[in-house]
Amino acid sequence: MIYLTGDVHSKIQGHWEQKIAGSELDASKEYLEILKKYKISCTLFLNGKCIEEEYEKVRELLNYNVEIGGHTYNNFGKMNPVKGYINRKIFGCVYGSERYQKKDIDKTINNFKKINLNIKSWRTHAFASNDKTFKILKNNEIKYVSDLFGERPFEKEELIHMTMNIPDDVDTISYGQTKPENKNPFASCVKGRISAEEWFEILKKRVIYNEKNKIPSVILIHPITMKVLDNFKLFEEVVKFLKKYKCYKFEEFKI
Ligand SMILES: [Zn+2]
Repeated sequence: MIYLTGDVHSKIQGHWEQKIAGSELDASKEYLEILKKYKISCTLFLNGKCIEEEYEKVRELLNYNVEIGGHTYNNFGKMNPVKGYINRKIFGCVYGSERYQKKDIDKTINNFKKINLNIKSWRTHAFASNDKTFKILKNNEIKYVSDLFGERPFEKEELIHMTMNIPDDVDTISYGQTKPENKNPFASCVKGRISAEEWFEILKKRVIYNEKNKIPSVILIHPITMKVLDNFKLFEEVVKFLKKYKCYKFEEFKI
């Protein structure tokens, strides 16, 4: 049971991956083309702002075997380290106050409605949610949320938490600007990152273990990261490995 997911962002000023590879919607199309070739479905979480910025490109994604979920409107608006610190200190998470979160979630969900999509799944950008987020999502008819790491999916207060149990690509692999020699002195700590090949080995081992123990593998692999890493070469290898197993979208999951 494989649940492959990816996060897709609207334009972020000065973001290093976007500077190299451009639109994340373009990278998503390439990602979905590879999945189509191997007959695999997935769930992509998009910023609500993508609908305003690249309406046609978002519509194009719907031609593939993909479920679209929400990923905040635009990664918390104007964020900086001080605001992030204050939000964590006061509200316990970067996403901010309940009032801000509600506005943001409503706006995101309503944007998807403009293309006739009633989204059922959600991942908060940077996993930066709290219990208030989950309550708001539930009240907005979201059924699946994937902000937590853990062994198995579980249900709590009418939400199904699709817990990830494999390290994600962008926080684990040493590539581009996260390589020690290219490290931006203002960026966060990158100690302990591993090569893309080592990450793929961990992914394979964990998927095999999960299959043996009937545990769903919830995997996060970002389209833009795969594009920047090596123009989807490694991604295609991952997909070839995953196609041995049954792949599903979140909306198909049942407790
Ligand atoms: Zn994100």
